[in-house]
Order: sequence, then C-alpha cells, then structure tokens
Amino acid sequence: MRKRLRLGIMGGTFDPVHYGHLVAAEEALVQFNLDRVVFMPTGEPARKSDRRVTPAEHRYLMTVIATASNPDFTVSRLEVDRPGVTYTVDTMMQLRTIHGPETELFFITGADAVLDILTWKDSDSLADVCTLIAATRPGYDLCRFEQKPGPGALRVETMEVPALAISSTDIRSRVAAHKPVRYLLPEAVAAYVRKNRLYEGAV
Ligand code: NAP
Repeated sequence: MRKRLRLGIMGGTFDPVHYGHLVAAEEALVQFNLDRVVFMPTGEPARKSDRRVTPAEHRYLMTVIATASNPDFTVSRLEVDRPGVTYTVDTMMQLRTIHGPETELFFITGADAVLDILTWKDSDSLADVCTLIAATRPGYDLCRFEQKPGPGALRVETMEVPALAISSTDIRSRVAAHKPVRYLLPEAVAAYVRKNRLYEGAV
C-alpha cells in the first residue's frame, strides 16, 4: 500500500524570513515525520492593516533565497498570487483540492498566530482539512491550547523551538537602527535586504 504523503505548510508573513523560521520548519519535518515543508508567505496578512508590510514579492523572494539549499523545503506562491486578505482556511481548502484526500496536511506557524486563527469563524472548517502545529518559544504558556475533545475538534500540536527567540520585528528594528543582523538570518537574505533598502525606515 502506498504511504500517505505528509505535507507541512509553513505559514507566515516572513518580513523577513530568519533562522527561527528555518529551524522551526526543520524541527516540524523531523518531529511530525513530514515528507516536505512548503513555505507559504502571506499575500495580504489578516489583521495587519494597521502596519506597513513589505510587498509580497520581496517577502516571497527572500523566502526562496533562504530555503533554496534545502531539498525538503519548497516555497508556494498560492497566497501571494491570491487577491484580497489572506485567510488560512482558504489556503488549506485549496491545498486539499489540489492534493486530494490521501495527503495529510499540517499547518505550521507561530503560537500566537494559531490562537488568532482559532478565533476566526471559519476555523471549524480547518478541522476537516488539517492539523495545526503551533511553534513556541520555550516558556510559552501552553495552557492556552487546551482543547475540548470531541468529534470535529481541531487538532493542535505544539512544538518548542529555542531559535524562535529571533524575531522579524527585532530584525526590522535592527536594520533601521544600523545594528548588526548577522547570524539572525541567512547572509544572502541580509544581502537582499541591503540591496533593496528594506526596513530602512522601519519602526
Ligand atoms: P504574526 O501575528 O505576525 O506572528 C505571531 C508570532 O508568530 C510572531 O512572534 C511571529 O514571529 C511568529 N511566527 C509567524 N509565523 C511563524 C512561523 N511560520 N513559524 C514560527 N513562528 C512564526 O503572524 P503572521 O505572520 O501574521 O501569521 C502567521 C500565519 O498565520 C500566516 O500564514 C497567516 O496567514 C496565518 N494567520 C491566519 C489568520 C486567519 O486565517 N484568520 C489569522 C492570523 C494569522 P516573526 O514575526 O518573527 O515571524
């Protein structure tokens, strides 16, 4: 019998992508026995209309650069190319249609974003299509993920990743303040940031 494909979808704004994201994806690959991880940069992130988000094409290209050398990682344009606000439920429904019922789908993202997704009305539909993997920094209060068991309940797994002490917000502020970002993100991504003068006026 053919083994079911286990596909991890790594969702994030990736503004910019950094080593915390890459370590989290690698950890999910191993811990959850995934066949590969598809990075999925958001097009127009939900709940971010109050701050300037770098154009999707830059965030997509930085993610491609960061993942290029890993044969288990790929990057999808699905959300970047879909017009309107990005909702995870739309993406996972689309992937379910593309890959069929035989593929197991796992949506991996930061713990706070998972809590956010759970508060949206369509989150019930997610239960039918995927398992959520919440990546946390050590010390994160996991009680926030206590689940009510029962039919149709959304499955949420948690995963501690020490490297998630690195944050995109911190990197943007460091670039704006001319502080070093070496060892926080791949050098080729840092070069892309410099070349395109990203985050120079970031707050
Ligand atoms: P966010 O609120 O900016 O991030 C929340 C926290 O999670 C931050 O500390 C962030 O760190 C971290 N994080 C984000 N993506 C991560 C990842 N892939 N792995 C590990 N940590 C991660 O989150 P966001 O980027 O807007 O959203 C994350 C994902 O959730 C996206 O795919 C987004 O579309 C989805 N989302 C969907 C809905 C919805 O459908 N209603 C609502 C919210 C989020 P960094 O800033 O360092 O990344």
